[in-house]
Amino acid sequence: MRIDNPKIVAALPELGVELRSGCALAELTSLGIGGTTDLLRIKKHEGIPDLLDLLDAHGVPHRFIGGGSNLLVGDGELPWVVLQLAKPEPEVVIDGTFAQVDAAADLGRTVTFCAKNDLGGMEGLIGVPGTVGGALRMNAGAYGMQIGSYVREVKLYRAAGRKIEILKGDQISFEYRHTSFAPDDMMLAVKLELPSKPFKEILAGIRICNEKRRSSQPLGQKSAGCIFKNPPGASAGRMIDELGLKGLNVGDARISDRHANFFVNAGSASAKDMLTLIADVRERVHKAFDVELEHEVVVWNA
Ligand SMILES: Cc1cc2nc3c(=O)[nH]c(=O)nc-3n(C[C@H](O)[C@H](O)[C@H](O)COP(=O)(O)OP(=O)(O)OC[C@H]3O[C@@H](n4cnc5c(N)ncnc54)[C@H](O)[C@@H]3O)c2cc1C
Repeated sequence: MRIDNPKIVAALPELGVELRSGCALAELTSLGIGGTTDLLRIKKHEGIPDLLDLLDAHGVPHRFIGGGSNLLVGDGELPWVVLQLAKPEPEVVIDGTFAQVDAAADLGRTVTFCAKNDLGGMEGLIGVPGTVGGALRMNAGAYGMQIGSYVREVKLYRAAGRKIEILKGDQISFEYRHTSFAPDDMMLAVKLELPSKPFKEILAGIRICNEKRRSSQPLGQKSAGCIFKNPPGASAGRMIDELGLKGLNVGDARISDRHANFFVNAGSASAKDMLTLIADVRERVHKAFDVELEHEVVVWNA
């Protein structure tokens, strides 16, 4: 979708928004898949309510992208524009055991910055790509921890009230790869409370998690992490592996040989290839185990 209405284009600079025309989302996603649309880069939070009012008044649909590491985006010209927060300086401010983090901050850099300030707890998130905003939305987690456990406050644009608000941690529910935020709420910043630990101890935990990832995940390949959520008490990867599906492909969309729940783009896979592979695997798992696998990857298909 192209923003060519002169009224919108003229209003953007004052709202602190930069328009990038015709962005290929394949270049903004870790899967390397996705069509083209206009991207609006937001440089100041205060302009967001007016920006969204403006887009709505002119009937311009939109979606939020963070680091694009959990997204499978459709092919071709896309029927909505994409909003992305620009990275601020500094990304993280430490105050005792609290870390105030901008949603656009890189998640891995946040984990290491906190570690260097003797704040731990997030060791499992090392190696999870993307932004802190995306991690909050997804309640990212690994190796027995999830980011939601450390959230004390979230600053967000709430679509329902059309304004920026602050929610306390206990007003938000964080479940396995699911949160109570409304689909069109936009995370802007978070206050985390983290356990104090000596840097050396945190580093040892980080090294263990890094090693676990390196030995089990296809880290050099284009993926979106796990495609499916684990059903209660089971492992989606193990079920797919038991069916002997590692290496199965549709065009360049392929199930990783290393980790059966990682589907990789081994060349120039289209969204259609990847979605066909996902649907095929869901059907086979359903037939064999009577389990309906749910997507962990967020699919933006039209
Ligand atoms: C190699 C690899 C390993 C991974 N390992 C893990 C893992 O161990 N655990 C895990 O949980 N995930 C993992 N992931 C998935 C992914 O990295 C996480 O879900 C990550 O937190 C997504 O963040 P993002 O900024 O890239 O979000 P995006 O992919 O950009 O977006 C994901 C969703 O969040 C929304 N979103 C993004 N930013 C905002 C915002 N500011 N406000 C509102 N909504 C927003 C988007 O609209 C979309 O719905 C892995 C991915 C890869 C490629």
